[in-house]
Amino acid sequence: MIKVENFIGGKFTPCSKHIDSFNPSNGQVHACIPDSSSDDVEQAVEAAQKALPGWSGLSTRERSKVMMKIADLVEQRLDEFAVAESTDQGKPVWLAKAVDIPRTILNFRFFATAILHQMNESTEQSEFGAVNYTVRCAAGIAGLITPWNLPLYLLSFKVAPAIGAGCCVVVKPSEMTSVTAWMLCQVFQEAGLPEGVVNMVFGTGKNAGAAIVQHPKINLLSFTGSTAVGKYIQEKSAQHMKKLSLELGGKNAGVIFADANLDKCIPTSVRSAFANQGEICLCTSRLFVHQDIFDEFCKRYVETVRSTLKVGPPKDNSSKIGALVSKEHMEKVKSYIKLAVKEGGTILCGETVDPPLQLPEENSQGYYCQPTVIVGLKDDARCMQEEIFGPVVCIAPFTGEDDVIKRANDVPYGLSATLWTQDVSRLHRLARQFEAGTIWCNCWLVRDLRMPFGGMKMSGVGRECQKESIEFYSEVKTICVQYAS
Ligand code: NAD
Repeated sequence: MIKVENFIGGKFTPCSKHIDSFNPSNGQVHACIPDSSSDDVEQAVEAAQKALPGWSGLSTRERSKVMMKIADLVEQRLDEFAVAESTDQGKPVWLAKAVDIPRTILNFRFFATAILHQMNESTEQSEFGAVNYTVRCAAGIAGLITPWNLPLYLLSFKVAPAIGAGCCVVVKPSEMTSVTAWMLCQVFQEAGLPEGVVNMVFGTGKNAGAAIVQHPKINLLSFTGSTAVGKYIQEKSAQHMKKLSLELGGKNAGVIFADANLDKCIPTSVRSAFANQGEICLCTSRLFVHQDIFDEFCKRYVETVRSTLKVGPPKDNSSKIGALVSKEHMEKVKSYIKLAVKEGGTILCGETVDPPLQLPEENSQGYYCQPTVIVGLKDDARCMQEEIFGPVVCIAPFTGEDDVIKRANDVPYGLSATLWTQDVSRLHRLARQFEAGTIWCNCWLVRDLRMPFGGMKMSGVGRECQKESIEFYSEVKTICVQYAS
């Protein structure tokens, strides 16, 4: 049993209350984490305040050096981190080893380098005999609140640019996946990160999370999670005019034209719906397929799902889909599948139509769900409109360009979209018409950290990436020097 402790002012700090954390692969409690209160958050903010002048006063090169060391130390413990991430979250170990932990390492290295290349602006002399130039200063104490689906990957995507820009931070990981964040605190100690630069308070959203959101000395908040909580944060933080970055939910569309290269499109679209058990905000959960290829596409899609997506224990290398994060989440996903049938949908494969999973005895209480493909739903069905965040995809036919863009955009969300066509003119013409922050053409999840990432509509506010993240965690000031007397 792992006992997680808060990390405040560079020290592991006991908390008076605790909550259980479950291993989704077998339903057993595997860790005990602090149920932090507003008092714990207060201590963390005080530690951050104390550390801020020293840390923000260092040169970018000095901060960069510590961040590089953090990346190296995580890399040395890559296997250990990957097993812990899988045990906490339910994803296959191979996936955590190939994606989550390498991306965490990259986040620290990338921002350690990016801060060295940050340039400021200046003007030629003005008619007043003055020059102006800008400087960027740390924006203060940042509150960082993160979800359970890509726990360390997304947490490091906030911590790295924040501390790179000179902020000190109070972080709250999801109460369901806290172990790798706690391990990262061990790395911070070993890397020599000064005390109080990163403070981690573990616990629930309603206690620790809400205390961070409402703390008057936390100047800015970066949140990744559900749209419902994002709305709450936006409302509450208005009281103190906090700077906000919100990365929220998605109901992403894929549009597949008859000229698409199906040999690439089908396996990629299967991956885009089911990677990480479908628990990625960017997963493509609605596919619009041109009428002329609809039947062939569905047949080949289902064959690919059945032949390539084995569901099983996360530690088994042959499992392509592990367990969902919690019992509650699994039940929610399965209730959407039942709802789809009531809404007139037909299930082509997965839950309710395929034989029940054969799992080893030790995993019989785990939270598994078979990859499920649904057709026949109307665009306004709840399963076509609401984020399910599990291994479920809905496929619908379309006939015309204008019509399909309208249908793809007809949801409250606007995070990402995918477009499959070999017609270059159509590709450029349509890509810009999606109401989404990222549009992948003939590919999916090919990410470049230099490019803005974020959502439109109810999918969020702001962008995260090289330039935008560093700008978010800093304040720009204009300095005007008049040299003419
Ligand atoms: P969630 O909103 O339930 O929780 C996210 C975090 O917020 C957790 O740490 C939680 O404890 C905390 N929280 C909950 N209530 C709070 C409150 N009242 N005040 C402060 N903090 C609170 O989301 P989740 O279930 O952990 O994650 C799944 C959601 O995250 C999905 O909607 C998914 O699309 C979204 N997501 C978005 C992105 C993106 O980049 N846009 C990435 C990953 C996940």
